Parts: sequence; C-alpha cells; structure tokens
Amino acid sequence: TSSLCKVPRAPPDKVLGLSEHFKKDKNIHKIDLTVGIYKDAWGKVTTFPSVAKAQKLIDSHLELNKNLSYLPITGSKEFQENVMNFLFKESCPQFGPFYLAHDRISFVQTLSGTGALAVAAKFLALFISKDIWIPDPSWANHKNIFQNNGFENIHRYSYYKDGQIDIDGWIKQLKTLAHNQKKENDKQLHCIILHACCHNPTGLDPTKEQWKEIIDTIYELKMVPIVDMAYQGLESGDMLKDAYLMRLCLDVDRYPNWSNGVFLCQSFAKNMGLYGERVGSLSVITPATADDENLNPLQRGNSLQQNIDSQLKQIVRGMYSSPPGYGSRVVNVVLSNTKLKHQWFKDVEFMAQRLHYVRKEMFERLRWPDLINFAQQHGMFYYTRFNPRQVEVLKNKFSVYLTGDGRLSLSGVNDSNIDYLCEALDAVSK
Ligand code: PMP
Repeated sequence: TSSLCKVPRAPPDKVLGLSEHFKKDKNIHKIDLTVGIYKDAWGKVTTFPSVAKAQKLIDSHLELNKNLSYLPITGSKEFQENVMNFLFKESCPQFGPFYLAHDRISFVQTLSGTGALAVAAKFLALFISKDIWIPDPSWANHKNIFQNNGFENIHRYSYYKDGQIDIDGWIKQLKTLAHNQKKENDKQLHCIILHACCHNPTGLDPTKEQWKEIIDTIYELKMVPIVDMAYQGLESGDMLKDAYLMRLCLDVDRYPNWSNGVFLCQSFAKNMGLYGERVGSLSVITPATADDENLNPLQRGNSLQQNIDSQLKQIVRGMYSSPPGYGSRVVNVVLSNTKLKHQWFKDVEFMAQRLHYVRKEMFERLRWPDLINFAQQHGMFYYTRFNPRQVEVLKNKFSVYLTGDGRLSLSGVNDSNIDYLCEALDAVSK
C-alpha cells in the first residue's frame, strides 16, 4: 500500500472553515464575524480610495503595468527604500534614522505578515534559538508558523486573566525563566512574540508604561523580540502613533544594544486592504559589534548586516524564490506620492474610527455585568470570553459566527445588524 495512506487528516483551519459554513447558512439574519477583513458600514469589502487611485496610476503607466518579470529575491529596491523610510524615518523618527545611517537593518519584502514571520522563524531556528514565547491567547497561526519553521519549544506566556491584560503574570513568568536559567547555568536564548498594537484576539494592549517594564525585562534577559505589527494604524487611527512599541525598542538611550537583534514583521494586509496581494516586510535590526569600533561610523554594523542579508536571501530563495510584484507596486505608489500618502493616512483613520464607533455602540447595548470598558480595547476584534459551547449556540441558534475562541470581528457589525447581534450575544451570555 502507498505510504501516502499513512497521512492523517489535519484539522481544518478554524477560521476559514467557518466561512464555508456561513455561506451555506440560509438564515437571513446571519452575520459573519470570523475573518479579520475590514468591511464598511454597508458590509462591503472595499478598496481604500488611496489604493484605488494608486491602481489607476499603475494602470495608466504602461511600463509599471506590463512588467511581469521576477522581482529580486528580497524584493524591489524601490519597495525597500519606501517601506524603510516609512517604518524607520516616519514611524520612528527619533532613533530609526540612527539605525539606517549605520546600516544596521536587514530588510526583506515578504509575503505579508505571515511570510515575514515564517522567514524570521526559519532564520532564528537556523542560527539563534528554537525556543519561542507566544502570548496566551494569540493569533493561532503563530504557533503553526514557528513549529513549521524549525522551532522545537513553544512556550506560552500569560497575557490575559479575568477580562484584563495580565502584565504581572507575564513578567513573573519571564523572571522565573531567568531565575531557572541562572540556576541551571543555561545560556539558551529565547525568542518572544510581541503584538505591536491591537492584540489579536483580545484587543487589549499594555499601556506605554507597562511596555517599558516588559521591554526592560526582555532586554535584561537578552531575549529576541519579534514584533508582529499587523495592525499599524488601527489602534489610534494614526499610522505613525501606533508604531510606539518599535519606537520604544529602538530607543538607543534606554536599550543601547540589543545583543541578539530585534525582528520586525510588518504587514500591509489590514492597513492598506491588500490582503490577497501578500505585501509586507521583515526588518532585522542588528546589534553593534565589537568590530564596529574600528570602522568609521558609516561602516559600522555593515559586515554583520551583510551576512544576515545573505542568509535571509538564501532562505527566501529556498522557500518561494521571490515575492509577488503587483501589491508592492501599489505600496510604492502610495508611499512615494505625498498626496496619496496623505489620503492613505485619512483612509486608515476613517477605518479606525468606524471600528471604534461600532465597539462603543456595542458596549452601550450589551448588558453584561463584567463587560470590559470599550475604551480599553483596540483594533478589529472584540473578545467576548465566550466558551466554545456559547460560540456554538450563537452559530446554531442565531446564525452569528465567531471564531471558536470567542473572538468577534467588529468590521462585520453595522447599523443594520447591531441590534440583532447584541440581543443574540446577551441571550448567550446568560
Ligand atoms: N499577525 C497577526 C497577529 C495577525 O492577526 C495577522 C493577520 N490575521 C497576521 C500577523 C498576518 O496576516 P497577513 O499574513 O495577512 O499579513
């Protein structure tokens, strides 16, 4: 018999499987709140005005439009320049330019945020560590990505307890890790995933002061931070403001030298609505090395960065050869055209405001005793804390679809379904 007969059935993707179910549901009141795709107040997935204009410009530009050749392995030079400027000059104006000027950033255009995480994982598992700390709860794919790319030890850190973010539990766990490592003289490095903003699924993020305490601890422990920035702009509506975690990590006065680098995985899926185009980036912020002292300032970090560049390139080559072109062209046009960029910032602000409005309206309608104040939560998701049984009842009795962990995508809520939805949620909460 065939060896293929031994292949067991993998569990279906929890989120995408639900959408299939939804399509077949005949209830006219049905509401799909599973996938994190932004829909407007009429329930439509729309293209941002800035992106639509960029597409028009590309269409009318024969050379851009017709060029179907390969991009370089780590993406186009233009994309690299535009995105690095956006991330490190505009989003992190105080210290980003320092790292850029010293050539301390390795950059890869990736297949959106997932691709950035996968390339980072492969690189880290090959050279640095096979231990990763993931928040509990987190986006389910984190575990999957790191497991699939060579990580052997998946640890979970406490993130959420009784409807609140659990900073004390989190820091205590890190300190215990440090204590045990010291006791056993274990020099093993550990990586840690940090949601840059709009934590998925809870919608709760540490305050700026709490982040300082957390990052101080991570720095002290020489852990490798992997900053997952999939929702820049969706927290405050201000693209630049939302990069606060990166600004903190790059603060040279506070953290003079991350000895094992900082990894930034960034996505344009949500904040430019480019989901299916798969556009994002991985930036590896490299440490200053002892060798650097002998080099002139502009060469510092150079050799280390070039070695890392070369390895990232090799990883990408073996994974998918080179990234797709069209989405990155859209990003290039938006980022390099002042008027379009301004429009894009407005588009993101508009989206964040709608999500905030929906959250507030829901909060006012829901009548649970232990409701978390809506003002504390950010982004696309509302975390109901419903158990899988309650989620099942919502689906079977009310045709309201959440993910199994009780996460609800606010983008599917609008004036036409909010009353029905809140009544269903109230009924199930009892
Ligand atoms: N990280 C988190 C926390 C996410 O929620 C997502 C999107 N669901 C991603 C990364 C990556 O998404 P994409 O690959 O579409 O950019």
